[in-house]
Amino acid sequence: MGGQRFGEDDAQAFDKAAAHVAAYRRSLANGPLAPARDYAQKLAEFDEPLPEHGLASGDVVDDLIERVEGGLLDISSPRFFGFVMGAAHPASVAADMMVSGWNQNTAMIALTPTTCAIEEITRRWLLELLDLPRESSLGVCTGATMANAIGLAAARNELLRRSGWDVEADGLFNAPEVHVVRGAEAHSSIDASLRLIGFGAKRVHIIAADRQGRMIPAELHKNVATLKGPIIIIAQAGNINSGASDPMTEIADIARSCGAWMHVDGAFGLWAHAHPELREQVAGLDRADSWAADGHKWLQAAYDCGFVFVRNAAAHAAAMGHSAAYLPNSHTIREPGDFVPELSRRARATPAWAAIKAFGREGIVEMIGRNCRLARQMAERLALEPGVTVLNQVALNQVAVTFGPEGELGDLQTADVLAQVQAGHVCYPSHGVWQGRKTLRLSVSGHATSPEDASAACDAIISAWRTCQERAA
Ligand SMILES: *Cc1c(COP(=O)(O)O)cnc(C)c1O
Repeated sequence: MGGQRFGEDDAQAFDKAAAHVAAYRRSLANGPLAPARDYAQKLAEFDEPLPEHGLASGDVVDDLIERVEGGLLDISSPRFFGFVMGAAHPASVAADMMVSGWNQNTAMIALTPTTCAIEEITRRWLLELLDLPRESSLGVCTGATMANAIGLAAARNELLRRSGWDVEADGLFNAPEVHVVRGAEAHSSIDASLRLIGFGAKRVHIIAADRQGRMIPAELHKNVATLKGPIIIIAQAGNINSGASDPMTEIADIARSCGAWMHVDGAFGLWAHAHPELREQVAGLDRADSWAADGHKWLQAAYDCGFVFVRNAAAHAAAMGHSAAYLPNSHTIREPGDFVPELSRRARATPAWAAIKAFGREGIVEMIGRNCRLARQMAERLALEPGVTVLNQVALNQVAVTFGPEGELGDLQTADVLAQVQAGHVCYPSHGVWQGRKTLRLSVSGHATSPEDASAACDAIISAWRTCQERAA
């Protein structure tokens, strides 16, 4: 059989896919939230012998639509409060569909100038929105885990270069020791990022945190004073349980005093720096050397979209670049592929560009402010109910809730409340563990979440807790 030209059936496949996505998104306001069918059921529904013969595009799309039925987690619902996940703004999703349709391999300007230009403009906009040093480079990657790995690799290589070791040429074996310091409540993905770039978990210096998960600067100061050689300090903006951020100014002062590279994991918390009133919580983070943030969390970009910014663009490109000879001052013309590990890659900045266009700065600030306000109101309302404890001071958009007494009974009751709520299809919080207790975690991170959604979620949670107590009585 010869090659098939794009035909009527292919065009219909696009139409069907777009119509399906629109219908799905429209259904979310009253959606089931939790998938009705589990992994085993879906495995069975997708299980068939390797297809020997191909189908027409439209039939592939029909088949896929039919088989996913009842199996999606409604992350984009205004009543989804799980983990910290964005709701993917429709404009971003539509742009992402176009990214796939255009099929632009966005590594090199000479090949794909348009999507490379979109990435460069997105870099400028993001730096302005987040108010980071405007000369910083941007790598657009899959998420904050990879963004952390990239930022930390740039840190590692640059610090070794200053120690007279060319890690790009000579690798890590026999290199001088680089110390890595992080807070006790850093996100679990930090250790994964560190493992990926050759730092074992046992080598990492862990600094005590306070009850809200913030690194204690006096402890950091004491620790780094004992270290000889280059140091990377990893600070966190936005703890997933409390929303609290490490004290950035103090950490930046300590980093400066010992010549350390300061990296900020701000997967969602970096966005606080874009908000005039929340900025205070993370003031000083712009003094860091590198920053990681997610596009697919608070910016509401379609998956997957992460950002790494590095003040020293040349160090960034030296660590990641594919170009044989990277000229330190050539970053005015940036090749997107020089700032991420991948060479071939989708035009990942385009959905972020679309999200920024859809909101404008005003819309982003409004959303972040509203999400944080609703989180505070939910915490206040839930804390009024006897037996309900909110473990965190609500700093941003995260609320950590427990039910019943501290200990095994409370953990069981919290798990019971969570299971009831998730099965009730009104809202979707997720589980967590914090301060040694099982929690029901609420994250208000969707752009469409309204006071009514927050109120309905509180009603559902309180009602589940009352049922739990009645059962026990
Ligand atoms: C979500 C998160 C990460 C990991 O981000 P991914 O996009 O899932 O890779 C890292 N750090 C913090 C603080 C986070 O909230």
